[in-house]
Amino acid sequence: MAEPIRVILFGAHPDDCEYRAAGTAALMVEAGHAVKFVSVTNGNAGHHRMQPRELAARRYAETQEVARRLGVAYDVLDYPDGQLLPTLEARYEIIRLIREWKADLVMGPRANDYHPDHRYTGLLIQDAAFLVTVPLLVREAEALRKDPVFVYFEDEFRGRIRPAESRLFVDIDEDARRAKIEFRWCGWRTSGSAGPGVECNERGPAGVGAAGWRRARR
Ligand SMILES: [Zn+2]
Repeated sequence: MAEPIRVILFGAHPDDCEYRAAGTAALMVEAGHAVKFVSVTNGNAGHHRMQPRELAARRYAETQEVARRLGVAYDVLDYPDGQLLPTLEARYEIIRLIREWKADLVMGPRANDYHPDHRYTGLLIQDAAFLVTVPLLVREAEALRKDPVFVYFEDEFRGRIRPAESRLFVDIDEDARRAKIEFRWCGWRTSGSAGPGVECNERGPAGVGAAGWRRARR
């Protein structure tokens, strides 16, 4: 098996990581990698009738069941659903989480979306990306010595928004689940690049390796 790596996924709501990457996460766990999901908001506005506190508690319980079934860690931050802003406080929290997890790979949404929470989660990750290695910021969590690789979740936004161009595909069908899939760290750095995720998505098939990840089946 390739050397185990540490992966952290951010979603705006308690279910976003699951919608976008639960299959990938399951395969990563199966392959021996350490995976953590983070919901940046507590999801307390996503229902027609349930009241916010009750809803947040229910959704938190659901995240912990997801954690149990997938074998991932799962944190839910306490920003209210529908009210997330790209504040310094939130940025520092994202930096702290990436550092504490000692992440090799960070996954999250693009900062294009109809929903402001999704958009600002993408922006917060983007803003945190360079700073995770800067030691004088967020001193309670030791700065990373090596930049993680940042990749975007696939999304369906088209039209005037620049469409997502997926360059890295993870096959999560049954055969693939049975196959041994390994993700190998190749030491690609984000420093000096145009921005997190951009390079990963735009380097084309040959760039997938250059972007730091090689997928080997069987
Ligand atoms: Zn969402």
